[in-house]
Amino acid sequence: MARKLFIAGNWKMNLSASQCTALAGEIAAKIPADSGVEVALCPPFVYLAAVRQVLQGSAIATGAQDAYWESKGAFTGQISPAMLLDVGCEYVIIGHSERRHTIIPCEDDRVINRKVLAALAAGLKVILCIGETLNQRSQGHTQSVLNEQLTAGLAKLNPGLAEKLVIAYEPVWAIGTGQTATTEQAQQAQAFVRARLGQLLGAAAAETIRIQYGGSVKPANAADLLVQPDVDGALVGGASLKADDFLEIIRAGEQIASLASTTPA
Ligand code: PEP
Repeated sequence: MARKLFIAGNWKMNLSASQCTALAGEIAAKIPADSGVEVALCPPFVYLAAVRQVLQGSAIATGAQDAYWESKGAFTGQISPAMLLDVGCEYVIIGHSERRHTIIPCEDDRVINRKVLAALAAGLKVILCIGETLNQRSQGHTQSVLNEQLTAGLAKLNPGLAEKLVIAYEPVWAIGTGQTATTEQAQQAQAFVRARLGQLLGAAAAETIRIQYGGSVKPANAADLLVQPDVDGALVGGASLKADDFLEIIRAGEQIASLASTTPA
């Protein structure tokens, strides 16, 4: 069965309450319920409930940008998977490169693994982000980094939960830089990720898990990336903050999905 393209907007630490609800409303108004592409919006924690309310009745899911691994208790400042579910969240991004490399203290694979397991166990769908730095790529370490992040990030995962897992391949050097991976670089890395998922979780799971590409996805490059056989969607940062750009990326996905559904196998 073909994997449904999945395009998620990561709004990071941007926008006010009124800007979030206006942007969500503008996007929701233009995406039909029977869109061939799955869409999610990931606003900051404090705006999740308001965005969810705007999206009520639409086909668009909400996602959070992180979650803690404990369900409740004395963990000042943390947000649990149960709390995210309580405000209607379906997805959570875990291990984003900014959490791995920019925000202090930086998260390592052990922390990321605890978050992945807890979020999945609670019933959330997880977008696990992985990707190499420029230095690691130039030293020829891309595959070993991806292997390490996948192996450690998914340690102890029950393969039965694989259907709730999405991987986002996001080369660190492409995030927010305007420097997109070439279609060959994205396809090559994502084919490697799928092969590794097969070893970790079994061939059937690897065939169903969607692998998004993330890193300066724009209307101008979306179609070329999304048409690659192992690119099952996009995690979009900057371009998801502008309704027109984000909608154009979704339309590129919809065109590819409709071509795939009319092309004989
Ligand atoms: C991201 O935030 O995951 C991302 C890919 O950002 P951008 O699209 O701005 O590069």
